[in-house]
Amino acid sequence: MLKTTKYSHPFQPHVKTLAERIWKKAVQLEPALIPLRPEIPMLIVMPYLINGYNRNPGHYSPKENLIVGHMHFAKVTQIAMALFVVHELTHWVQVRLPCYRPTRDTHTHASWSMACWIVGQAIGLDRPLDFYRPLASVRDKETKQIMKVQRADALTLQELHHFPRIKEIPQEMVEALL
Ligand SMILES: [Zn+2]
Repeated sequence: MLKTTKYSHPFQPHVKTLAERIWKKAVQLEPALIPLRPEIPMLIVMPYLINGYNRNPGHYSPKENLIVGHMHFAKVTQIAMALFVVHELTHWVQVRLPCYRPTRDTHTHASWSMACWIVGQAIGLDRPLDFYRPLASVRDKETKQIMKVQRADALTLQELHHFPRIKEIPQEMVEALL
């Protein structure tokens, strides 16, 4: 069993359930994670009118193991909350992956693709790892230069940034997220 922290938000039991499901899948797909046994992050929500940088709905803080929400709760649906938590739990997995390195935009690092793949499997998205790798390297026939091009069967960088997208999640899994 994972250790849990005392919680401060009504959605915290959902965070615990989702985190446990995601971590179970993470150790299956990445056995290097088995000895880590991280604590469940605590979800806190900032008071109304305290907005995040760039209207960001929130972020995950690895140092404190906190998911910080900046959402105006009266307007946030349960599913939006669940998707927000899944996104932040993806960061929770990401920072624990052996390939993780701190970068300016964590959503463009290889560890983010890997974390999305793991979490995707945990929430019922049957997609290969390359689905979360927008760019492929190809050599230009004329210039012989290596170029990065969008993979046809992958998310775009922007879609990857906003993982997970509701339209890709099977309906029964959407219900399971709530
Ligand atoms: Zn993010």
